[in-house]
Amino acid sequence: MKQDNCIFCKIANGEIPSKTLYEDESFRVILDLSPATRGHALILPKDHAANLLELPDEAAGKVLVLAKKMAITMKERLHCDGLNLVQNNGETAGQTVMHFHLHMIPRYDADGQNINWKPGETTQEELVAVCEEMTK
Ligand code: AMP
Ligand code: ZN
Repeated sequence: MKQDNCIFCKIANGEIPSKTLYEDESFRVILDLSPATRGHALILPKDHAANLLELPDEAAGKVLVLAKKMAITMKERLHCDGLNLVQNNGETAGQTVMHFHLHMIPRYDADGQNINWKPGETTQEELVAVCEEMTK
């Protein structure tokens, strides 16, 4: 199902043109308009889901298989040295378009990008507490 006024619904379903790298009945893979690196691509499901939590299991299962297929092509054709997969959920996490998308960011030696987080600190007690909250 598409959602009115969702730009990625329109792109995924071909109503707005895009630089398409791959398309099947469930997904379209496009080039990002503000690429972090050469070849930065987005995997878009054709059916609207705002984020990972809303993505049906079937699409969630297919998306990583497609990412692997695209990764192989990126390596072969663009000769990238590495690859980051990034998937933001919610404004707090940096999501700006509220239609699920998986970023595929090819990495090149000395490309100057920095897709990282600052390592934090914790304690054994805190690790145990988080484990209990997640598993009780
Ligand atoms: P996020 O911050 O995870 O929501 O990422 C949204 C991404 O969509 C950004 O990297 C934007 O550059 C990209 N983007 C936004 N609009 C378009 C568009 N019309 N075509 C291609 N990429 C887009
Ligand atoms: Zn949408």
